[in-house]
Amino acid sequence: MEAEIIAVGTEILLGEIVNTNASFVAKQLATLGITSHFQQVVGDNGERLDDAISLAQSRSDLVILIGGLGPTPDDLTKQVLSAHIGKPLVVNFKAIDKLIKWGKQQQRELTDNNRIQAMLPLDATPLDNEIGLAVGAMTEAFDTQFVLLPGPPKEMEPMVINQLVPRLLDLQADHQILVSRVLRFYGIGESALVTELADVIDGQDNPTIASYVKDYEVTLRLTARADSDEAALALLAPMEETIMGRVGEYFYGYGDHNSLAQTVVEALKSKAMTITAAESLTAGAFQAALGDVAGVSAVFNGGFVTYAEATKAKFLGINQVELAEHGVVSEFTAKAMATGALNAANATLAISFTGVAGPEELEGQPAGTVWIGVAHSTGVSAQVFHFPGSRQDVRYRAVKQGLFMALR
Ligand code: ATP
Ligand code: MG
Repeated sequence: MEAEIIAVGTEILLGEIVNTNASFVAKQLATLGITSHFQQVVGDNGERLDDAISLAQSRSDLVILIGGLGPTPDDLTKQVLSAHIGKPLVVNFKAIDKLIKWGKQQQRELTDNNRIQAMLPLDATPLDNEIGLAVGAMTEAFDTQFVLLPGPPKEMEPMVINQLVPRLLDLQADHQILVSRVLRFYGIGESALVTELADVIDGQDNPTIASYVKDYEVTLRLTARADSDEAALALLAPMEETIMGRVGEYFYGYGDHNSLAQTVVEALKSKAMTITAAESLTAGAFQAALGDVAGVSAVFNGGFVTYAEATKAKFLGINQVELAEHGVVSEFTAKAMATGALNAANATLAISFTGVAGPEELEGQPAGTVWIGVAHSTGVSAQVFHFPGSRQDVRYRAVKQGLFMALR
């Protein structure tokens, strides 16, 4: 199979954005052993895009179009492909449902252009978009497989890893069985993880291994091909074992859709534990993340948002003189908040957050300094972190880190 990528967008031609999408997809193709002799970049122009598709189809078996699935008038890729292959655009019910829900939530009237985001060429296989509204597609015409992917990398990358790669493996596998295992990691960056696993990744064949990043988490998908489930699992097991041996300390769970918060709630349930929290800089975001999980009430009775010193003292029983002495952004305060919350909520685990969300420093400590405390009936500890990024990034990362610590 020979593949060709067509990146669509005048911004790429003008040099305003770098074509990282082509590089990402090309790397995945190479990993799958799919050869590629050509790539194209074409602006947001229907006629020239149609020419590019004709050329690609004349010399490649798999044509991957990236960008131009959005709702603005310059987004034409889907319409041009549909006309080119003579398959009209039809509504995909799952995608339109999501769009209608989004419209209601945003209190927006859906425009015809919006609706196009939920349409696919007739008979095409939808590729779900985990992040955005524009559904991707895979469709065959003239003995060529055409793929439509959205332009924003954070939408495109999970779609490629979770939707496209398995289908390409399927095409290649000649009806062999494919079994995937998705491993999720927190607390290690993608480049560090990939470096730890460099030899495994370089030497991959069957199973294949692919990584992507979402919400500061790294996900690895291992996929094995074999004649039976058992044989595929037998191929996966040693690779998983090697991976766990190297980066197991950052592993938190399996599966595409299992969030860190969900993993925490399930782990607490299985241990018959209850959780509470005392939050300063995150101001309830940690508890809100728990609240996103259905069934959380089995492990969460409530907790505290204690922003000011006086509030910390009043609700968590912290001595205000000692608090002032140690400072709010300190190991002492993180531990005292966790212990105070544990006792006040009568829970078996308490997580506390105190730190500097920024942009200004606090108590002479730079933005991004965050102490997270963990209290159990058996003791209390606290750890300091220095999170990069904006105020929102710092708060978000603190929540993720707290969830990860709640698992340990
Ligand atoms: P949207 O719904 O955001 O309009 P889209 O599928 O129509 O998505 P485009 O309009 O082509 O995609 O691009 C949207 C954004 O995605 C661009 O502004 C750019 O930030 C990013 N992007 C698009 N193409 C590429 C590319 N080839 N490489 C890297 N980033 C890209
Ligand atoms: Mg667009």
